[in-house]
Amino acid sequence: MIAENLNKVEDKIAESCIKCGRNRSEIRLIAVSKTQPVEIIKEVLNTGINNLGENKAQELRDKSELITGDFNWHFIGHLQTNKVKYVIKAAEFIHAVDSIKLAEEINRKSKEMNKNQKVLLEIKTSDEATKFGLANEKEIFEVAQFCKNSSNLNLVGLMTMAPFTDDESVIRNCFIELRELKEKLNKNGFAISELSMGMTNDYTIAIEEGATMLRIGTAIFGDRPTGRQAEFINNAGTK
Ligand SMILES: *Cc1c(COP(=O)(O)O)cnc(C)c1O
Repeated sequence: MIAENLNKVEDKIAESCIKCGRNRSEIRLIAVSKTQPVEIIKEVLNTGINNLGENKAQELRDKSELITGDFNWHFIGHLQTNKVKYVIKAAEFIHAVDSIKLAEEINRKSKEMNKNQKVLLEIKTSDEATKFGLANEKEIFEVAQFCKNSSNLNLVGLMTMAPFTDDESVIRNCFIELRELKEKLNKNGFAISELSMGMTNDYTIAIEEGATMLRIGTAIFGDRPTGRQAEFINNAGTK
């Protein structure tokens, strides 16, 4: 089933790339494996996926000890400073930096590990999609500058979530805002290349607006296990 799902996703990605004249190789597909058990994740890796996304710190830590190989982990969730220690070892990219305090802690822990940590800033482009993310432009520039000045941080991009809606123009505007913000930062001395945007509901629009990282869960794995079932699977898979 997963191979079939993945084929469908790849077909749609290819179609969108043709539509807007982009090259598939510019786009990284991150399979969002949160709540999924280890066996299923291994199955996905066998289909050639080489980027996995998790949004809970301990879940990433536990899974990264059980699943190893030639692929990258992405931490895509909201990160509290006291949990940075759980993700820093495994995460190639941390997508949702939304404060100087968090950037500071990531830098401190990266330094201890002698690691250069790739980070993205989470930008709040809508009020509904998430309560997290930077919304104020002055603040965005301050956090970006802080990252730039930090010895062990490498600011590579911006990330956003669009609201879950059928109104395509609302979604598109979020993605346009993110792209324009990237251009503005780059005009002001930053060198940011990644736009992490696009989920199951909206990834074709994200591609059209310049996404370089798609974070797709449901379209690849099917519906996520919920509630007690999810907890059970997590415990079974990671303990
Ligand atoms: C869960 C999640 C996704 C994937 O969502 P789907 O709708 O299942 O594709 C993407 N980004 C973030 C930050 C998530 O938490």
